[in-house]
Amino acid sequence: MRRVYCDLHLHSCLSPCGDDSMTPAMAAGMLKLAGIDVAALTDHNTVGNCPAFFKACLEYGVAPIAGMELTTAEDIHLVCLMRSLEAAMEFGREIDRRRVKIRNKPQFFGNQLIMDEEDNVVGNEEYLLPNATTLALTEAFELAESFGAVCYPAHVDRVSNGIIAVLGDMPHEPAFRHVEFRDTGNIQAYTEKYPRLAGMMPLFGSDAHSPEGICDASFSVEIPDVGSAAEAVFDLLREA
Ligand SMILES: [Zn+2]
Ligand SMILES: [Zn+2]
Repeated sequence: MRRVYCDLHLHSCLSPCGDDSMTPAMAAGMLKLAGIDVAALTDHNTVGNCPAFFKACLEYGVAPIAGMELTTAEDIHLVCLMRSLEAAMEFGREIDRRRVKIRNKPQFFGNQLIMDEEDNVVGNEEYLLPNATTLALTEAFELAESFGAVCYPAHVDRVSNGIIAVLGDMPHEPAFRHVEFRDTGNIQAYTEKYPRLAGMMPLFGSDAHSPEGICDASFSVEIPDVGSAAEAVFDLLREA
């Protein structure tokens, strides 16, 4: 077995709140420097920069996972991780049909840049990405499940867009098997206050929006010595 360090929540320059300098290539390079072995790109309601992220990560020796931070109709953020880039692109097309299309105002919200792996801008997303989709919480979870995703509430210990802050408690449904904490120091207090969290696997991600936000490895798992590290981490989560 080998221990791999993971960052499963990252934004690129395609998220309007992401820094323009957070290109897929820059993210991959910074992840390598931070000692991260397996990383997921999770832009808001899009997988548009995942192809470039995959190429850049392979260049730098980081194992990539394609993902998305999905906004539900209730304004709750869910991390959705996909087993393959192909599955992610298909999921992305489905989510695109569930978006509420409001034109982006880059000067106000920020740019939404689609990149290639060599830091060239190849497109601009015209409509604002992070706003609520038409998918209600359970519907969003079930849709993600139907695409074989690992889907769980993001930053449960955060007020904005955290599931507990929005709903007032951890709901019975959907049956999440994982939950992401922003701060590992909050796990105990949150689990005591919201006992339904106890049965869920706690996960962490930097939620970095800039190169400086990528922190040193803090979350690690053991995987078999042989085979794809990204697939092994994904399978470990999927089977949790
Ligand atoms: Zn979020
Ligand atoms: Zn995020």
